[in-house]
Amino acid sequence: MHTPLDKSLNAFARADLLQGSTPIQRAERLERRLGLDSQGIGLFLKRDDHMSLGGGGNKLRKLEFHLGAAQQGGVDTIITVGGVQSNHARLTAAACARLGMACVLILTRSVPKTDVDYELNGNVLLDQLFGAELQVLNAGADALALAETRAAQLRDAGRQVRVIPMGGSTPLGSLGYARCAAEIARQESELGLTFNQVVVPNGSAGTHAGLAAGFQLLGRGTSIVKSYSVLSDSQSSATRTLNLTRDTLALLDSHASPTAEEIVIDGSQLGAGYGLPTHAMQDAVRLMARAEGLLIDPVYSGKAFAGLLADLRQGHFRAGDNVLFVMTGGTPGLYAYRETFQA
Ligand SMILES: *Cc1c(COP(=O)(O)O)cnc(C)c1O
Repeated sequence: MHTPLDKSLNAFARADLLQGSTPIQRAERLERRLGLDSQGIGLFLKRDDHMSLGGGGNKLRKLEFHLGAAQQGGVDTIITVGGVQSNHARLTAAACARLGMACVLILTRSVPKTDVDYELNGNVLLDQLFGAELQVLNAGADALALAETRAAQLRDAGRQVRVIPMGGSTPLGSLGYARCAAEIARQESELGLTFNQVVVPNGSAGTHAGLAAGFQLLGRGTSIVKSYSVLSDSQSSATRTLNLTRDTLALLDSHASPTAEEIVIDGSQLGAGYGLPTHAMQDAVRLMARAEGLLIDPVYSGKAFAGLLADLRQGHFRAGDNVLFVMTGGTPGLYAYRETFQA
């Protein structure tokens, strides 16, 4: 089955990092615990944490397009930026290892956490295993400027360098989640159901924007996607997500231009800020672990799942509704938050 969306996406180079679709599973034990079964509400999980490369996670979908274009352009070195516990940095390092490219990571201590687990364990440990060159900066440093400086040095040394911005959230990277919308639509027909809402965390906005653009082009509209902002307040997230959705649609040759009202973002789960734990997040991570035996991360999916739980408990859904929670990965982050979860 080839939709016009598949056709538009096929015009872009893509490095195959996922090797197939990620599963959608029904969360039956959560449904029973939350009393959703008796209300006739279905809760499903899109396992974007379930990818073989580098521990998996949502950034691989964006990297498929970034690195596909890089390969096509003869690039041999990738530079990217992120926080110390950036999942995007870890997956860029893993994908570069797989594709035989060099990888430079410029990481910033943007979260006020200085314990040894945060500084040395989790993602940052894996970055080194994947063979990336690491540079760690203090909060407030201009990582992108440093990335450009390092790029210039490497170009002088004869290397073909490309810099990927934070989270890979450019229109090109967001194509990865437009493609995921097409994948979800195919899985809906296999499962014989449709989702009324697709729930994601919102950091650098490429996941939300890509899904929104994809569902728009599938004729479903952008407001099927709801995100919980975990990086900034809901107003800045909304502006960033709206612009990125429009730019992603334009890259796919669409003239559709969603309005601000059609981009659904909830700012209630941010807490004290990016990377700072909330009680609701801790409860959500524990509930997912104990009801389903599945792991979600403390920075992104834990906060988004906490938001979805609040919506479910407040009766936002009706009998017959099916909700899809996208598990975006990031579980190495749990090891950086030992202090938060230790009993
Ligand atoms: C980056 C990230 C997100 C957020 O995705 P954006 O496209 O940056 O909004 C969600 N979950 C995990 C685990 C991530 O690493």
